[in-house]
Amino acid sequence: MSTTVAFIGLGAMGYRMAVHLPKHFDTVYVWNRNFEKAKQHATEYGTTAVEISQAVQADIIFSCLPTSLDVENLIQDLEIKSGAIWVDCTSGVPESARKLASTLAQNNVQFLDAPVSGQTIGAENATLTFMVGGQKDAFDQALPAMQALGKLIKHVGDSGAGFAVKAVNNMMMAVHLCAAAEGFTTLKAHGVNLNEALDCINASSGKSGVTESVLPQRVFNRSFPLTFALPLLAKDTGIAVDLVREAKLSTPVISLTQNLINIANSLAEPESDFSSAVKMYESWSKITLD
Ligand code: NDP
Repeated sequence: MSTTVAFIGLGAMGYRMAVHLPKHFDTVYVWNRNFEKAKQHATEYGTTAVEISQAVQADIIFSCLPTSLDVENLIQDLEIKSGAIWVDCTSGVPESARKLASTLAQNNVQFLDAPVSGQTIGAENATLTFMVGGQKDAFDQALPAMQALGKLIKHVGDSGAGFAVKAVNNMMMAVHLCAAAEGFTTLKAHGVNLNEALDCINASSGKSGVTESVLPQRVFNRSFPLTFALPLLAKDTGIAVDLVREAKLSTPVISLTQNLINIANSLAEPESDFSSAVKMYESWSKITLD
C-alpha cells in the first residue's frame, strides 16, 4: 500500500516545500486556509487540493503555520486518521509540542515537532535542515517524506526538542544580526568602505550567516525581500527567552537581543523582512548600511 502525504499551510515555506512531494509520492493532498492557494498549487504542481477533513486522512501530515497556537486551534476540530504521523514544520513552542504529542497519542496519532531552517530558497531547492523532536519510531517512519524536502534531517530528542533547537538557532541569528548592524554602523561612522570590510570579516573570525548572506543579499543592496517576516523572528526570540526563563538561567545577551528585536519589530513597516531590523540602528545612528 503506498503512503499518502498531506501538506497543510501553503505560505512562504509550505507552498515551496509541498512542490517536491509529488516527485516521491503518488497521492499528495494540499490544504490552505485561503483555499485558492491550494487550488493553484494543485494546478501548478500536480498535488490534490482537498478539504481539511480529507487531508488529515493521509499517512503523513505536514503542517507549516505561523505559530503553535494556530496548529493547536486547527487540530482541535479534526478527526485525524488513526496511525497517522503529524509532522509540524512550524517554528513552535516546545510545551505545545509535548501537549499535542500526548493528546494525539490517545487517538493513535503521533506528533513530531519538525521545524526547518534554510529559508524559502532551501524550501525551493529541497535542501532544508529538519530538527525533529518526538518518538524515534515515528521519526523513522516519517524520514522518507522529510528527505523529499530536506538535506540534513536530525532527530534531536523527545517532544519539544526540535522546537527548542529552532528557537535557539533563530535567537543566535538575531544576536548576529544585531551585532553585525552595530559593527558595520561603527565602521561606516569611521569612513570605512563596507563592502571591503565585509570581504575581510567574511574571511575572519567575526563572520556569521548574517555577514555571509543577509548583509550582502538583503541589506547593502537595500532589497530587504520579504521571505521571513520580522514578526515571525520576534515570535522565535520570544520562545527562546521563555526556554531560558523555564530553565532559570541568566542570559543577558539573549534578553537584550529579544528586547532589541521587539523594538525593531514595533518600529518596522507592516510586511517587513527580518533583515529590516537593521533599519532600527540606521534610524538611531542616521547611518545607512549601503
Ligand atoms: P507565512 O505567513 O508565509 O504563511 C503562513 C501560512 O499559514 C499560510 O498558508 C496561512 O494561510 C496559514 N495560516 C496562518 N494562520 C492560520 C490559521 N490560524 N489557520 C490555518 N492556517 C493559517 O509564513 P511562513 O511560511 O514564512 O512561516 C511558516 C512557519 O515557518 C513559521 O512558524 C515560521 O517561523 C517558520 N519558518 C519560516 C521561514 C521563512 O524563511 N519564511 C524559515 C523557517 C521557518 P493563508 O494563506 O490563508 O494566510
